[in-house]
Amino acid sequence: MKEGRKRYIAELRKQLATLQELCAGAEAGMTRDAAVQLYRLVHTLRGSAPMFGFMRIGEIADKLVRQWEWTQAQEGLSSADMEFLNRFKLAVSEGDALVRQLSVELDIYNQELDLDEKREQAAMAGTALSSGSRLLIIDDDEALRSYLVRRLILEGYQVDGASDVAEAQKLLRQFTYDLITLDLMMHPQSGYELFAFVKEDPTLKWVPLVVLSGRSDVHDKVRCFYLGADDYMTKPFQYEELSARIYSLLKRTKDFERMAFRDPLTGVYNRRFFDHQIQAELQRIQRYPSPISLAFIDIDRFKSINDTHGHHIGDLVLQGLAHLLQHHLRETDVLARFGGEEFVIVLPGSSGDHAQKTIESILRQTHAGPVAQHEGEAYRITFSAGVCEWTEGMTVAEWIKRADNAMYTAKQSGRDRVILYTGQLSDSLSDASSAPEPGAKTVLIADDDRILRSILVSKLQHLPVTFVEAEDGEEAYRVVTTQSVDVCILDGVMPRLDGLGMLNRLHTNNMMPSGLQVLMLSGRGREEDMSKGAQLGVNVYMSKPFSMLELEFKVKQMLGLPD
Ligand code: GH3
Ligand code: MG
Ligand code: MG
Repeated sequence: MKEGRKRYIAELRKQLATLQELCAGAEAGMTRDAAVQLYRLVHTLRGSAPMFGFMRIGEIADKLVRQWEWTQAQEGLSSADMEFLNRFKLAVSEGDALVRQLSVELDIYNQELDLDEKREQAAMAGTALSSGSRLLIIDDDEALRSYLVRRLILEGYQVDGASDVAEAQKLLRQFTYDLITLDLMMHPQSGYELFAFVKEDPTLKWVPLVVLSGRSDVHDKVRCFYLGADDYMTKPFQYEELSARIYSLLKRTKDFERMAFRDPLTGVYNRRFFDHQIQAELQRIQRYPSPISLAFIDIDRFKSINDTHGHHIGDLVLQGLAHLLQHHLRETDVLARFGGEEFVIVLPGSSGDHAQKTIESILRQTHAGPVAQHEGEAYRITFSAGVCEWTEGMTVAEWIKRADNAMYTAKQSGRDRVILYTGQLSDSLSDASSAPEPGAKTVLIADDDRILRSILVSKLQHLPVTFVEAEDGEEAYRVVTTQSVDVCILDGVMPRLDGLGMLNRLHTNNMMPSGLQVLMLSGRGREEDMSKGAQLGVNVYMSKPFSMLELEFKVKQMLGLPD
C-alpha cells in the first residue's frame, strides 16, 4: 500500500503537469480533443485518488470534473464555435485556483509520505525501546487501568498496574520502572501523595512521570509541572496520543541516559552510573533481603595488545569483551566500565558462589574464541576477576575494595581465573600500585569523607611519600598495626571508631608505633579533645576548615622534609 501510494503520487505529478499544460495553452490549443482529455484526466483523478487515501485530492478533482462536464454533451460543440472557446476559457480561469490547490495538496501528501517512512523507521527502533521498557500505570479506575495495561503490553512494553498509592509504592520499591503514569484523583490517597514519594527518592526522581487527570483545571496542571511531572493529559484522551507521548518521553530519557550514563566506547554503563546504581541496589536489598555480589574484572596483559597491535585493536577488544559480558549476564545485572580495561558487575540475586560460576563461564568463552576480529585477524584475551558477596554492614567502598583485592589475588596467582573473596585474602588497603618504594615514607589519611581524602592526596601528591587511606578508625587501626606508617592525618569524627577512640585503643593494646606522628583534624576544636589528644600522642592539632598550605607545611615538618 505504501509503495502504491508513493507510485501514485509520482503518477499524479505527471498528470498535474499535463493538466497545467492543457490549461495554460493559448487559444490555438483550446481544441475539442484537449477539452475531452482534460475532462478524462480530472475524472480519473476523482475516482482513483480516494482509493489511495488521498481524499482531499479527490474532492478537488470532483469540483474540476463539474467544470469540464459540458464537454460530455452529446451534441458537442466544435472547436471553431465561439461558445466552445468561451466555455473552455471560463473553465480554465475558474479551475485555475483548484489546480493550484491540487499542486499544494500533492506537496503535502508527499511530505506526509516521507514523514511516515521516518516514523516507521523510528517505530522499528521503538520495538527495541518498548521491549526493553517497564511501565507502571497507577489508576483507581479499573476499566481504564486494565485497558491501558493491555494496549501497552500489545505494543511490547512490560506493564504493571496499581490501583492505589500504597500498591504503587510497593511496586516501585520492588522493580525498576522506566515510566510512570499517575491518576490524580484516587482513593484513599490522592495521586499527589505519590509525587512526594517519587520525587524525594533519589533512585526514582528521574523516572518520567505522566499525569493522567480528569481535571483540566489549569491550576492542577501548573501544580503538577512544578512538582516534577513530565507530561499531563486530560481524560478522556485518545490512546494513540498517550502512546505517542510515552514513546517520545522514553526515547528522550534513553537518549539522555545514553549521553550521561554510558561509556561511549563500549556502550555499557559508566562509572558515574555505577556509583549511583550500586547504592540503589543496596537499598533495594535492605528492603527485600536476597544475596547480591560484585565482580571486578581486569583484562590480562592488555597493555601488550595495545603495544603489539595498536590502540585501535585495543579498543575493539574492549568493545568485544563488553559485548561478551553483556550477552552472558542477566537483565538485572549491572555492567559498567570502571576504568581503562576494568569492568565491574553488580549481580543482584547471586550469591558469591553463583556469581563466581557466572563469571567463570564467561571466562571460558574467552578461551573458546576471540573477542574481536579485524581484517581477518582474530584477537584473544583472558581476564582476571574478583568476586565478593555483600554482607550486612559492608560499605560500598569496602565491597568494591574486597572484589578488587580478590581480582588482584587472581592476578598474582597466575591470571586467567576468578577468585571469590572469602575474608581470608589480605584485606590490606595497599595493592601493588601503592606498595611503598623502599625507603619512602608513608602517610595514612584516615577520614570518612572520601572527597576530603582525595583532595588531601591530590594536594600532597608531589611529596615523595606513599599514601594509604582509611575511611574509619577501625581501618586506620588495622593499617597502623600491620604496616609502617610515618604520619597519620586523623579525622577526629568518624563512624564506627573515631580518631581519639582509635588512639586510645592503640595505647590500651600497647600497639602505638614508636615513630608514628599524628596530625589530628577536627571540626570540633574543643579544649578537652585537644588535651585528651595531646595525652594520646597527637603531635599537631588542626581545626576544620583548615588551610591546605598550613597542612602541607605541617606534614612536611613531621616527615622531616625540606620546605
Ligand atoms: P595485567 O594483566 O596486570 O592487568 O596487565 P595489563 O597490561 O592489562 O595492565 P596495565 O594496567 O599495566 O595496562 C592497562 C592498559 O590499558 C594500559 C592502557 O594503555 C590500556 N588502556 C586503558 N584504557 C584504554 C582504552 O580506552 N583503549 C585502549 N586501547 N587501551 C586502554
Ligand atoms: Mg588494570
Ligand atoms: Mg589488565
